[in-house]
Amino acid sequence: MSNVKKHVSRLLIFCMILVCFAGCKQKDKETAGDETKATNEPSSSAKQDDPEPTKEAEPPVELDIHFHSNNKYTIEGEDGKILPVFQLAADETNVIVHNVANPVAQNSNDEFQLQASEQFPADIYGGTSLRSAIMNYAYQGAFLPMNDLIDQYAPNIKKFLEENPEVKRSLTAADGNIYMLNYMPDGDVGRVFFIRQDWLDKLNLKMPTTFDELEEVLYAFRNNDPNGNGIKDEVPLFNDKWQELVRSVNLWGARCFGFDTFEERVVFDENDHFYHAWTADKFKEALIGLNKWYKDGIIDQEAFTRKTNTARSTLWTKENVGGMTHDFFASTSNFNHNEELLASTPDFNLVGMLPVHKDGSAWEEHHRAVAKPDGWAISANCKNPEAAIRYMDWFFSEKGHIAYNFGIEGDSYTMKDGKAIFTDKVLSQSNVFTFIQKTYGAQLPIGYKQTFDYEAQWVSKEGMDAFNLYKNKGEDFYLKRTPIFNLTQEETEEYEAYLSAVNSYQDEMVVAFITGKTDIESNWDAYVERCNELGAQKIVDIYNVAYERYLNIK
Ligand code: CA
Repeated sequence: MSNVKKHVSRLLIFCMILVCFAGCKQKDKETAGDETKATNEPSSSAKQDDPEPTKEAEPPVELDIHFHSNNKYTIEGEDGKILPVFQLAADETNVIVHNVANPVAQNSNDEFQLQASEQFPADIYGGTSLRSAIMNYAYQGAFLPMNDLIDQYAPNIKKFLEENPEVKRSLTAADGNIYMLNYMPDGDVGRVFFIRQDWLDKLNLKMPTTFDELEEVLYAFRNNDPNGNGIKDEVPLFNDKWQELVRSVNLWGARCFGFDTFEERVVFDENDHFYHAWTADKFKEALIGLNKWYKDGIIDQEAFTRKTNTARSTLWTKENVGGMTHDFFASTSNFNHNEELLASTPDFNLVGMLPVHKDGSAWEEHHRAVAKPDGWAISANCKNPEAAIRYMDWFFSEKGHIAYNFGIEGDSYTMKDGKAIFTDKVLSQSNVFTFIQKTYGAQLPIGYKQTFDYEAQWVSKEGMDAFNLYKNKGEDFYLKRTPIFNLTQEETEEYEAYLSAVNSYQDEMVVAFITGKTDIESNWDAYVERCNELGAQKIVDIYNVAYERYLNIK
C-alpha cells in the first residue's frame, strides 16, 4: 500500500516538474532520469511519451555563488576557471555559475561577514562553520526557507531527507524551516591515536595500555633519542591543529568538544545533562598535566604558533622528530607510505593506539558529525531560487553524488560494477582528500552527503587496522554527541554573541595555561568566573531549552 502511495507521489512530483519546466525539455528529462535511477523504478514511460511539444531550450540561468571554505577554497580553481565538478553540475542543470567570492581571501568567515554588510547580493552563499551565522541572518530574512523549493524542485534532496530523519531534524530550524543544506560526513571512526611503532621497538617499549605507561613512553621518546641523531630534538606528542592538542585533555578523562567542530564546547555528562567542558574541574586537572608535559618538552613547543595542518609533514616527513598524534586515520596512516619520508626514514611505522585515560575511562570523543555546521544557503536576493535549488539538488542525484565524492569520470575515477573507483592519478597522491578538493572541487563542504567508500579506497592497511581497532570497541566507546540545535531567533542572537566572546577568551587563556604564561592554580577561579560573565553558563541554559525542543521534532 505504502509503495503504491510512494509511487503515486513520485509520479505527482514528476508531473509537477513537467509543468514547472514545461519550457525546457532537456531539464525535464534529466530530473526524471535522476529520479528513476535513484528509486530504481521504471517510470521512464512518462518520459518517453512526453506530450509536451518541443520548444527551444530556455537560455541558461546565471547564478552567482559566494562559497569560501577553510580559509582558502572557492568554487574557482587556481586557473580562474570554475572547478570541474561545479561546472559539471552547472552543465547538467542548465545554469551558468560565477564565483563571486574572493579567491585569495585568507579568512572565510570575514569573507562571509563582508557580504552581510552588503545584504548578501549573490544567489548562493556557503562555507565552513557558517551555520549559526546563516541562521542568525535567515531569521532576519536574508536567506530563503527551502522547504517549498525542496518539495517542488528538489526530488533528490527531498528523498534524502525522508530517508534520513536525524539529518532532517538537525537541518530544521526552530521555526520549522530549512535555511541551509549542510555537509554530511560518512563513516563513524574519525580521528584516532597513532604512535611510532619503530620508536617503541627501538627503545624496547611496549604499546602503552595505561596512562602511566603512555607517560613513560612519551618521556622515553623525549629523553632516549629514538631518531638516533644524538640530539634531544624529539617531539613526543604533536597535532596538526592546536585545538587537537587541547583535546589531549581527554587523556585525563576530561571532555573538550561536543561534536566534530572546535567551536562546540558544551557536552553531555553521563546523565545527559549539559555542562561547559572548558570550565570543568577535570579540565583544570588536565591542563595542569598538559602544562607539565609542555614544560618537559613532551608536547610540541610550537603547537600554538605553527601553521595549521603542517605539523605532520614537518615533524615526520621533513624532520623525523614526531612521536604520536591524534588525527584522521586515513591521511595519517598514509605517512607510512610517503616516499619522501621513507627515503630518509626507512623504518618509519605508525600504528593505531587506543586512548588510555588517567581516570581509567575508555572512550573516544571525536566522532564524525551527522551534519557539520558547513554548507550553503540561498540568499533572499537570489534572482532565481528555483534554479538555485535545482543546482543544489544535483549534488544529491546519483550522478552528482558520485561526482561530488570522486571527481570527474574517466579522469579521477572510473566506474566498475556500478562502483566509482579512483584512478592511479588520484591514488598516487600523498593526500587524496586535498587533491580532489583542489583539482576537481569535489568534497568541498557544500550541502552534500559524503560516502565513506571514497576514503576506504586509499586507506592503507595500518589505517584500516586503526579503524577496526576503534570500531570494534563498540557503540559505547563513542560518546553521545551534542546535537546540532535549532535555536529560535532570540536564542541564535544570544548564542552568537556569547559563543564568540567565550571561545576567544578561552582560546587565549587555555593556551596561556598550557604554555605556563599564566599560572593555573592561582587563576583558575577567576577564569571560570570570567567565562560565565561572558556567557558560558548561558550557552548551557540555551542548550537545555533547545534540547527539549529537539527531542520533540518529529
Ligand atoms: Ca634525537
